[in-house]
Amino acid sequence: LVSREHHPARSVIRAGGVPIGPGTLTVIAGPCAVESPEQTLEAARMARSAGASMLRGGAFKPRTSPYSYQGLGERGLRILADVRAETGLAVVTEVIDPGSVDMVASYADMLQIGARNMQNFALLQAVGSAGKPVLLKRGFSATIEEWLSAAEYIAQRGNLNIVLCERGIRTFETATRNTLDISAVPVAQRLSHLPVIVDPSHSGGRRDLVVPLTRAAIAVGADGLLIDVHPEPKTALCDGDQALPEADIREIADIVASLPAFL
Ligand code: PEP
Repeated sequence: LVSREHHPARSVIRAGGVPIGPGTLTVIAGPCAVESPEQTLEAARMARSAGASMLRGGAFKPRTSPYSYQGLGERGLRILADVRAETGLAVVTEVIDPGSVDMVASYADMLQIGARNMQNFALLQAVGSAGKPVLLKRGFSATIEEWLSAAEYIAQRGNLNIVLCERGIRTFETATRNTLDISAVPVAQRLSHLPVIVDPSHSGGRRDLVVPLTRAAIAVGADGLLIDVHPEPKTALCDGDQALPEADIREIADIVASLPAFL
């Protein structure tokens, strides 16, 4: 269902009215984790200044360590919904278990499946039935074929509103948190009609790499970007090292603004 053999033309999908697909460069930005109403609103303002049309923010955080910040849960979703009402930005947020899919879907415009859950098949089937678009991140040890098979689980439930997100894979390299597999973008676009976006924040895990990886993503034809921003990265409860502060927003905005000539 997700292959171009089945559907030769590349698809544009809509999340909260925002188009994602060929001919667009949809920027989704926001905090890694929702921490408070003030932090989320400020991050949403930064996201908008960067050229974003969607807000990201995790209320349920699947952290590698059980001692790391786990998110505000439903209270975080209420904050995201309030910030959407105030800013007009559509909201994408992660869901981590099948039992809470309907609850998360009642707040979100788009459901995110994180790298750690890419092969949680019960969760994929549940989001496939939830009636909301899905952002499917690539597992950090998943091949492109496994990633597309995960998308197929969602599509099989009648939901073809899926966006693939390359977010870096695990390699021998330790200079970056993960290695952005830039070739995955055109490869996935050739195999699948689904839009493919890039997360330059979680892949490198380093603020100084976000702009170069953003440029690389655009150069290979990514359909969008997923970028972490935070009003005070030093105090961020989650992944502050990769969050862009206010001072770096202008550069992203300039890149995004120069795009009509590029696309
Ligand atoms: C995220 O985008 O909030 C996240 C946790 O990313 P990933 O699943 O790619 O690690």
